[in-house]
Amino acid sequence: MDMDRPLETAHSATPAMIDPFGRAVTYLRVSVTDRCDFRCVYCMSEHMTFLPKPDLLTLEELDRVCSAFVAKGVRKLRLTGGEPLVRRDVMTLIKSLGRHLETGALDELTLTTNGSQLARYADDLHAAGIRRINVSLDTLKPDLFAEITRWGRLPQVLEGIEAAKRAGLQIKINTVALKGVNEAEIPALIEWAHGQGHDITLIETMPMGDIDGDRTDQYLPLSAVRRALAERWTLDELDFRTGGPARYVRIKETGGRLGLITPLTHNFCESCNRVRLTCTGTLYMCLGQDDAADLRSAVRTGEGDDILDAAIDEAIGRKPKGHDFIIDRDHNRPAVARHMSLTGG
Ligand code: SAM
Ligand code: SF4
Repeated sequence: MDMDRPLETAHSATPAMIDPFGRAVTYLRVSVTDRCDFRCVYCMSEHMTFLPKPDLLTLEELDRVCSAFVAKGVRKLRLTGGEPLVRRDVMTLIKSLGRHLETGALDELTLTTNGSQLARYADDLHAAGIRRINVSLDTLKPDLFAEITRWGRLPQVLEGIEAAKRAGLQIKINTVALKGVNEAEIPALIEWAHGQGHDITLIETMPMGDIDGDRTDQYLPLSAVRRALAERWTLDELDFRTGGPARYVRIKETGGRLGLITPLTHNFCESCNRVRLTCTGTLYMCLGQDDAADLRSAVRTGEGDDILDAAIDEAIGRKPKGHDFIIDRDHNRPAVARHMSLTGG
């Protein structure tokens, strides 16, 4: 390769951000708020202390940082949280970011949501250019749903999913596999999702942030889930990738796609293409490491983007090789102290 020429993304003439291990960073996940209307047991403790409002990037600042990343070669933006749709005026940001889809600078603008506000926003999301969303749903049993989310109501989420479908959004269901909690229901969830025309992805619990319970009680290795599913159904390995860390299989009997995200049992770091921005402007180069860059002071330092651009380049220059997540009896402390709701998963 000619090292004097800037590396380019496959899609455009935009020079790509390349990390020290040769990986192009093309995917930015943005947590637009650390707040949420649910308190899922594996994600948050019941009494959370949230960030003071002045610490948050304003919607305009979030737009500036996201747009700086797009100018540097990010092709996919995912908004998450906390619950992204509970941030006040979030549609202003989403509509504004939609301009990068129109210019072709961005391939995809998407969202991970708990679904509680979808009935209200589904049409607006579609109008802003969003075509696919991830909705988190761990059970179809109303009582268990209330237990897992503490504050959530299942009918509200199911109505949201219906509204999203009607609006023309493609839906992927994300389900955290929880030992002894929704474990037995996983085949039924898959059948339901595929019956509705949705993909579904199973996620292992990750050791992030203090929660009220014991994580070794919740941890269910997906290797075991997959073995159990393979006894029931025919699983055909697929090459399909969405730019995320999931591996996909097609279930012959349901005809649908099942993704498996196994950060603990399978190391997916070698193909990592993403970085994460929190709502305070902190950039995490790896979900499982504490090293971070402060982009808020960079964005607040000046009108122009020179300082911000330099801060982004410097941060990408120290993206680590991978994470060190382990959950077992000897390591029953969070591998990273921050909650998932800060970086958004
Ligand atoms: N509130 C939105 C939602 O629930 O989809 C977006 C943010 S939430 C932090 C993003 C995803 O992370 C959800 O699918 C959630 O189930 C997952 N998650 C939260 N804590 C987790 C943990 N400790 N391990 C694995 N997944 C987790
Ligand atoms: Fe809220 Fe999502 Fe965390 Fe549940 S997983 S508490 S919905 S941020």
